[in-house]
Amino acid sequence: MNNKIQSKVLSVSNVTDSAYVLRLERNGFEFKAGQYLVLSIPGERKAREYSIYSSETDNYIELLIKEVDPGEMSRQLKYLKVGAKVEISGPFGYFILSNDAVANNTPVVFVATGTGISPFRSIIRSNPALNYKVLHGVRYKTEAYHYTDYEEGRYQLCSSRENGIGYKGRVTDFISDNGINKNALYYLCGNSAMINDVTDLLEERGILPDQIKTEVFF
Ligand SMILES: Cc1cc2nc3c(=O)[nH]c(=O)nc-3n(C[C@H](O)[C@H](O)[C@H](O)COP(=O)(O)OP(=O)(O)OC[C@H]3O[C@@H](n4cnc5c(N)ncnc54)[C@H](O)[C@@H]3O)c2cc1C
Repeated sequence: MNNKIQSKVLSVSNVTDSAYVLRLERNGFEFKAGQYLVLSIPGERKAREYSIYSSETDNYIELLIKEVDPGEMSRQLKYLKVGAKVEISGPFGYFILSNDAVANNTPVVFVATGTGISPFRSIIRSNPALNYKVLHGVRYKTEAYHYTDYEEGRYQLCSSRENGIGYKGRVTDFISDNGINKNALYYLCGNSAMINDVTDLLEERGILPDQIKTEVFF
């Protein structure tokens, strides 16, 4: 059920120079990992969608937000003070894990660019027994947000502009070079260009549309 609740800022923690985690009071807000909410500041007209970064069982809500330049809300939220009031609507979306993925030990490949990793961290933290792999496309290695949260060997950084850490290249290059698991479910999240390119690549290699779920941020 969607609803609108009042919440307050618990903390704002910088992860990089331009990305931060906004932690909010949960106040009974229920969601399924992978879903997003709509955040607004009381009395202001604008509102933006943010995927939930924390798990279904955490007693707070976390959002991983990248400051966009020029951008209105992503920059404003960074400077909210502890205790500031916000409004949360939701949850929204169907970008959630299929019911039997854990029970059947189905391999799940999460492909993200930038903060598109947010719903995947929530799904992974909410399903500790999940058989997963994360492909994370970033420009610079500092954008490997909280990569130590993922089990050894399950997180693959793909850095398009920096050598010396992870794979040098885009997620599409990584998939082309390393092949795919035909039995996996594929979840893609981030910018629309990556999602279109990866969808084409997977379908060319025999992955069925039913095996692919997408969430476009912009
Ligand atoms: C379902 C959904 C979930 C989302 N979840 C997240 C999330 O978890 N974290 C997050 O940071 N953003 C997320 N976004 C994007 C978010 O809603 C805002 O668009 C973003 O914060 C920019 O808002 P703004 O007001 O600062 O800039 P605006 O003035 O609204 O937008 C300026 C431009 O910034 C670009 N842009 C938007 N988002 C990004 C981004 N993440 N990285 C680079 N460029 C971008 C777009 O081209 C846009 O036209 C999500 C969007 C959708 C639709």
